[in-house]
Amino acid sequence: NTGLQDYLIRAAEQVPDKEAVEFLGRSWTYEKLYEEASAFAGALQNLGVEKGTRVAVMLANTPQSVVGYYGILLAGGIVVQTNPLSVERELEHQLVDSGAEVILCLDLVYPKVSAVKERTSLKHIIVTSISDSLPFPKNCIYPFIQKRKNGISVKITPSSTLHRYKELLQQKKTYEPQPLDPAADLALLQYTGGTTGPAKGVMLTHRNLVANTTQCMRWMYKIDHGNEVLLCALPFFHVYGMTVGMNFSIMDQSKMVILPKFDPEEVLKTIEKQKVTIFPGAPTMYIGLIHQPSVTKYDLSSIRVCISGSAPLPLEVQQRFEELTGGKLNEGYGLTEASPVTHFNLMWGKRPQGSIGLPWPDTEVRILSQETGLEAGPGEVGELLIRGPQVMQGYWKQPEETAIALQDGWLYTGDMGYMDEEGYFYIVDRKKDMIIAGGFNIYPREIEEVLYEHPDVKEAAAVGIPDPYRGETVKVFLVVQDGKELTEETLDTFCRERLAAYKIPRQYEFRTELPKTMVGKILRRALQEEEKQKER
Ligand code: ATP
Repeated sequence: NTGLQDYLIRAAEQVPDKEAVEFLGRSWTYEKLYEEASAFAGALQNLGVEKGTRVAVMLANTPQSVVGYYGILLAGGIVVQTNPLSVERELEHQLVDSGAEVILCLDLVYPKVSAVKERTSLKHIIVTSISDSLPFPKNCIYPFIQKRKNGISVKITPSSTLHRYKELLQQKKTYEPQPLDPAADLALLQYTGGTTGPAKGVMLTHRNLVANTTQCMRWMYKIDHGNEVLLCALPFFHVYGMTVGMNFSIMDQSKMVILPKFDPEEVLKTIEKQKVTIFPGAPTMYIGLIHQPSVTKYDLSSIRVCISGSAPLPLEVQQRFEELTGGKLNEGYGLTEASPVTHFNLMWGKRPQGSIGLPWPDTEVRILSQETGLEAGPGEVGELLIRGPQVMQGYWKQPEETAIALQDGWLYTGDMGYMDEEGYFYIVDRKKDMIIAGGFNIYPREIEEVLYEHPDVKEAAAVGIPDPYRGETVKVFLVVQDGKELTEETLDTFCRERLAAYKIPRQYEFRTELPKTMVGKILRRALQEEEKQKER
């Protein structure tokens, strides 16, 4: 009855002196990591946490994120991951919805937690500060660490319901291991990113999470188990960074190098200094790295494998990154509801251009044609359905939404795609983002890809806006490359040469930046919302 936390216990037994975590110059061995996680578990049980209690975590990537997460699991609790940038309304929704009784948060977000506390079921707040893991580093580039150094952080006066993380660890309370059914017991409530609607709690069991990390470890068959160095710049509070960064490293008994935030220069420096071998990221991160003027100054040759997911990876980014590092940068696909990964390209094999690769071991895939309702043939676009050990149990307290997303164990992903003759998969776009103009289906991604072909376009997002004649029409939001200028006329001519008439954007809006999620995905929905607001 192995739970996710048992992999930490095993590592602490088998390789106690091995470095498990590196954070801005300080390290934790597996023994120390387990010691801290078990002390945190003991403290939680002392505060009343028992099997099934929801415990929220609201932290930037720090060692406390790992200690907190594994401590909650050791205590028998369910982790509720919360984005530290959430505003009070979002935080309140997640706390009320999940029924979390305890929260572990960074001191800088404490005012938000405190403001919503009375409207939630929170009984205890545990506050940690960056200095709980780190003496203040000189000239630190991270604003939230710098702020703390300058004494802007909040004053915490401990009470029976407000606790300091560090003091709880110092009590060194022992925890009582809880009985576990890995297939049924939840390890995590992961709120969806919200790019398509209000956040829903995705229920993931211990088995879901262990399965997805195991699939990842098996798929990357040439990895040097136990000796990899993973760079964790993707946030742990998102399921991608959690599975492919943190849990992978612990289950593999490798070392994770934690960065609290993605900063291109800091990432390059860290790759060289720590001899990073695996760096999971999002396309916008790799774009940031290859465009960093200092990129050629660093020795990046330790990189062997990079995993890109969450959005399409442009070919030229893949090629340039591989040239610079000599390692592989491969694209995969997944979603929170599948822990998250379901597809990946072969690391050292064929990688058809634009493909998300093949389904992972034990993962079944169907493509359902929207026109016929039947399974689509090769090359035919339909909705991607997934079945496998990584697929969620449903949405927390949302039986109706669950019944729509999960049918006979099949997860309806809401993504449109197709399979080629050889069994490789391709994503076309999200079903919900499809624009219907005068009866024609338009996938915004196709328009964005055309715009990205223009050398002066830095970022592009296409959305549907209401149109009295066509029902909907295409509007494009653009960021132009630094020092360049573009006009609507130039873009219109460019698009007319490359797209059918009904797909030509009718409106353009130039911006200095586009709204993005924490993993750097452009938030089309936010742009669409803005358009709707204008209508009202
Ligand atoms: P929400 O679904 O809650 O609105 P979100 O999109 O941030 O928010 P995630 O689970 O983080 O939720 O993202 C999953 C989605 O990301 C997939 O459904 C798919 O649309 C997109 N995606 C992931 N990988 C790729 C890829 N390689 N290519 C294209 N799209 C991808």
